[in-house]
Amino acid sequence: MNDLIYKAETTHALNIDELTALLDASEYDEALFAAADRVRKKYVGDAVHLRGLIEFSNICRCFCMYCGLRCENKNAERYRLTEDEIVETARKAAEAGYRTIVLQSGEDAWFSAERMSSVIRRVKAFDVAVTLSVGERPFEDYKAFKDAGADRYLLRIETSDKALYESVHPHMSFENRVRCLKDLKTLGYEVGTGCLVGLPHQTSRHLAKDILFFKEIEADMIGIGPYIPHPQTPLRNEKGGDLIQAVKVMALTRLLLPTINIPATTAMETLAPNGQAKALQSGANVIMPNVTDPSVRKKYEIYPGKTPANPAEDARKETIGKILSLGRTIGTGFGGRIKAHSG
Ligand code: SAH
Repeated sequence: MNDLIYKAETTHALNIDELTALLDASEYDEALFAAADRVRKKYVGDAVHLRGLIEFSNICRCFCMYCGLRCENKNAERYRLTEDEIVETARKAAEAGYRTIVLQSGEDAWFSAERMSSVIRRVKAFDVAVTLSVGERPFEDYKAFKDAGADRYLLRIETSDKALYESVHPHMSFENRVRCLKDLKTLGYEVGTGCLVGLPHQTSRHLAKDILFFKEIEADMIGIGPYIPHPQTPLRNEKGGDLIQAVKVMALTRLLLPTINIPATTAMETLAPNGQAKALQSGANVIMPNVTDPSVRKKYEIYPGKTPANPAEDARKETIGKILSLGRTIGTGFGGRIKAHSG
């Protein structure tokens, strides 16, 4: 196993059997995390980039079996921020020092290409990078968002196994999800994808395949989160994902894609109070603090226990404190994906 970790660290290539073997072993976890930490330091440095996350609508047309925002969850109290509210939240975040604003929502058709483009244009005026995470759209919408100034797009594949994908996404198609990622690449976005760890019937081989998928699609960012069961979904009685397994998938992703951006995800922090710190020391170089107004934050409940409803400014200070205490620095620029490297 140590040879495999060495191979990953030096060649950034492992096959599906090698990845699966590392995911199945547990005695080598710390060695794996240390290797991912060295690769992170060598290729993307010590800076941790902060992204201000605005969850602007929890209205969603989808049926994702794991997600608390799924349209069939009648208990969810739905909300949609107005365009002015979104822009004002972004303005405050930019003023607080964020250089990237992430606009995330359920798949809410009210935000037509035109409305979304107007929001993007107004947020771009604050001299920030704009990342969108609003789900599957036709090519024309993605093009309109790009023309309006959007820089990056997050759309997790969730799982790269078609059968497993379709088992948790009724009325959706795996091919369309991949089509979206390819369209986004074609349009010149920095593309973020990623997966859930711990879905029902997901094996370590599925996860190994996910990591190879990230490489194949040439992702610029990868977000990996443990699956956390939500009580108002059909999967409420499932076991859910394990933090260490999720960090392992993340660490292996860093080893195979050394120059990409990798967030220490909120779902990791939800499972353990040091979850994000562990991630930052195992390959991650991004954190996305929530800057949404605390009054609506609770309603964006994709999984339970998500984020404390503390004011955006406190969340930012806490995050910065955590990063500095790990001997890391705060990224100052837009923190886009590094294109060329000397490593
Ligand atoms: N509608 C957007 C944003 C979805 S929410 C989109 O489709 O991209 C962002 C991410 O939350 C999802 O991609 C999914 O991976 C994650 N998520 C949803 N439900 C979850 C759960 N129960 N546990 C952990 N993560 C979850």
